[in-house]
Amino acid sequence: MHHIEQVYINGEFVTPHGTERFDLYNPATARVIGQVRLADAVDGERAIAAASAAFPAWSKTTKQVRIAALQRMHAAVAARHDDLLEAVVEEYGAPASRSAWMASYPAEVIAQAIEALEAFEFTTVAGAARVEMTPLGVAGLITPWNSDAGFICGKLAAALAAGCTAVIKPSEMSALQTQIVTEALHAADLPPGVFNIVTGRGDTVGETISRHPHVAKISFTGSTRTGKAILRNAAENFTRVTLELGGKSPTLILEDADIRQAVPLAIQAGLMNSGQACVAGTRILVPQSRKTEFEQALAQAVAAVVSGDPRDAKTVVGPMVSEKQWQRVQGYIQKGLVEGARLLAGGVGRPEGTRDGWFVRPTLFTDVHNQMAIAREEIFGPVLCVIAYRDEAEAIAIANDTDYGLSALVLGGDSGRARRVAQQIQAGRVLVNTLTHELKAPFGGFKHSGVGREMGAWGISAFMEPKTILG
Ligand code: NAD
Repeated sequence: MHHIEQVYINGEFVTPHGTERFDLYNPATARVIGQVRLADAVDGERAIAAASAAFPAWSKTTKQVRIAALQRMHAAVAARHDDLLEAVVEEYGAPASRSAWMASYPAEVIAQAIEALEAFEFTTVAGAARVEMTPLGVAGLITPWNSDAGFICGKLAAALAAGCTAVIKPSEMSALQTQIVTEALHAADLPPGVFNIVTGRGDTVGETISRHPHVAKISFTGSTRTGKAILRNAAENFTRVTLELGGKSPTLILEDADIRQAVPLAIQAGLMNSGQACVAGTRILVPQSRKTEFEQALAQAVAAVVSGDPRDAKTVVGPMVSEKQWQRVQGYIQKGLVEGARLLAGGVGRPEGTRDGWFVRPTLFTDVHNQMAIAREEIFGPVLCVIAYRDEAEAIAIANDTDYGLSALVLGGDSGRARRVAQQIQAGRVLVNTLTHELKAPFGGFKHSGVGREMGAWGISAFMEPKTILG
């Protein structure tokens, strides 16, 4: 059993004022594997006070000092790779393909911030004026459970690079991963108060951070619903926000696509991170003229996906993170059936051979139209929809007929044509015949998928305000 009893405030592991114990689960067995003692609003206040006290000195540090600090963070986080790997399997149920990425990405995203900081121009000239990029102040960093260490490290590295100090509120469901990252960051020997980590509930610690007048910036990753609540809270103090929210991304298969290349990419895009990915390509748009052919190939591919024990090398889809998430996925599969969509693979219930864990059957629906709930709402599980279109114009219209706009994938034989289609899709990122992720490029969403961008110079600037000096 794991017992996490402390939070991290002002450079020290301390017993929180909060006394609530929250159970931690192994989603592959649905058994309790430990408990975390949660921070409360008082701890949130203390963390904000520590970050406020550390801000004047940290905001005046040179680029060299910040680069050296980030390099120590990078080394310390990379050194905990194996511990993180074990934690993401045990606490999150990530299968091999995902867990390897989740254990190495936190260090990689810090390395990305170091490179961006090295090239960052803090002072530029605009006509007769000098423009100085000025750190905003204390940053509140609120993160979800589906990539805990990666989001903590990415947001913190950008905030510190900008000269901000930080209060981090990770998801209460990821306390093992958070503990490992906190120990690593502590070993990086940063000045006390520069970062503080208070695991607690969203409606206590999260609310304290997003309403606090001494928090100048919120960087949030999570659901669109919580993002809206944070935006409302932030309005009170004009707190700056970056919001990385949900998605319902289209995978647009063009008429000239090679079925052998398109199908594996479409399935991978849809089922990545066991379907618990904000960028997951869950709406698969196929040409009406090739509908039957694609239905057969996609159904075969989804039926062959192994969903089960994350420690089994063959597993592609691991368990859902929680019982709540399992119920949610079951509810949407049921809803798809009620709405009249036709099941091509999967369905309600657990996959054969699995027992107690929160396992789901990778599911593919066809005869879906874009007004159905399964085509409009983010399910956050391995449930994919096939939607047929008549021509390219209709395909683009369906792709864009969504509240979201985080990511899209276009697959086609003529890459020039595929790129022209990509240009017409309203999304923060459009991939053409690839699933490659570019860490140096801005990441974020259009429409209800978010506000602002992370990564690179865009990510650092998000923690700063330009100040114009004349004369
Ligand atoms: P969530 O919105 O429930 O929680 C995210 C974080 O916000 C948690 O730490 C939670 O405790 C906190 N929170 C909850 N209520 C709060 C409040 N009122 N004030 C302040 N903080 C509050 O999301 P989740 O279920 O943890 O994560 C899944 C969601 O995250 C999905 O919708 C997914 O699309 C989204 N997501 C987006 C991205 C992206 O980059 N766009 C990446 C990963 C996940």
